[in-house]
Amino acid sequence: MKLAIDSSRCKGCNLCMLVCPYRIFKEGKEQNERGIILPELDRPERCPNCRLQKLYGRTLCGLCQMICPDQAIRWDDEAKNERQKVEVEF
Ligand code: SF4
Ligand code: SF4
Repeated sequence: MKLAIDSSRCKGCNLCMLVCPYRIFKEGKEQNERGIILPELDRPERCPNCRLQKLYGRTLCGLCQMICPDQAIRWDDEAKNERQKVEVEF
């Protein structure tokens, strides 16, 4: 699974940045076509949902999705056999 922010919905409030225990959301730098600065994703493959949601069949954290006032956060299926880089932090 791949974490994605829907740029047509996000309003740049950065609430997702406050709640993520893995600090996957970082303050963005560039405005999109609507003049909104979206958060950037820092190594989203570290998110437990990205790695394990398929295996467990349910959302494992989901805090960012729950707090997002605009339902702008989602997980996309990855293409079959797409290579994944996983960095584990201890
Ligand atoms: S689901 Fe949890 S760990 Fe994954 S990006 Fe959202 S808040 Fe962070
Ligand atoms: S919480 Fe939702 S609307 Fe706010 S910055 Fe994050 S993705 Fe965008």
